[in-house]
Amino acid sequence: MKVYTKISDLRTDLFKEKAAGKTIGFVPTMGYLHEGHASLMDQARKENDVVVLSIFVNPLQFGPKEDFASYPRDFERDKQVAVNHGVDYIFHPAAEEMYPTKPSVIAVVKDRTDVLCGTSRPGHFDGVATVLTKLFNIVLPNRVYFGLKDAQQVAVVDGLVNDYNFPIEIVPVPTVREEDGLAKSSRNVNLLPEERKQAPAIYQALKIAERAIDTGEKDPDSLVKIVESHINENTDGIVDYIEIYSYPELKVIEQVNGKIIIAVAVRFSKVRLIDNLIIQL
Ligand code: AMP
Repeated sequence: MKVYTKISDLRTDLFKEKAAGKTIGFVPTMGYLHEGHASLMDQARKENDVVVLSIFVNPLQFGPKEDFASYPRDFERDKQVAVNHGVDYIFHPAAEEMYPTKPSVIAVVKDRTDVLCGTSRPGHFDGVATVLTKLFNIVLPNRVYFGLKDAQQVAVVDGLVNDYNFPIEIVPVPTVREEDGLAKSSRNVNLLPEERKQAPAIYQALKIAERAIDTGEKDPDSLVKIVESHINENTDGIVDYIEIYSYPELKVIEQVNGKIIIAVAVRFSKVRLIDNLIIQL
């Protein structure tokens, strides 16, 4: 496995792989790798000749009051995880390498950002789309792997790839969870011990809503209330949003029908967690 910090060095070696007819699978991350990231790497390993992992905490996608500084980082440990999961190339640039000057062009996401994290994190998806546009042009992958834990991101990236005609296949990967149901996240280490005990209530609440749907509840507002009361009764977290939309369109629905997403964000003292269930009816 090789580690690159310079765009030009990575490009030189990846051009050789492409010229030799190799397919490239790409896993973009912000590091502090866990089993969720590992499942993306494993799938990329199965489906491609070459696997590229990027580790870059992208300042552009964090708001001024968000956790850019406290976002966990451990590059030495990440390298070991990457080796164990068959990664060939790690791209780990400094912010100055990715943004040597203030960007003169920013990708602005126009659709699917007036809901969920788009509302509570203004500018976040513009930062994501901008860094991914750069990374796609640097890596020139055949397939890119994204986790459905960030289901809105998958929908937004799908729009980016279609609108900008990137010749890339987007591969969504199911959410990996802790044994108690909490979605794995790099941010979980920033939960206080008591909050960590409470946090599985988020997924429990989503599953309770799913069972309510199974037994005939079709009204989105009633389902939102079910999720909200379970989270409020079982955690000290503050609900940021609980929303239900069609998926992947992320449009308001009158009745739960077809493919839908129930998505949640909850603020704890130092960290904001998100989770969702995508349900096909
Ligand atoms: P991040 O490092 O948090 O930006 O995540 C990098 C990629 O890993 C994104 O595509 C995430 O959706 C994905 N990911 C993060 N957590 C999980 C998880 N628990 N299960 C599956 N994929 C995940």
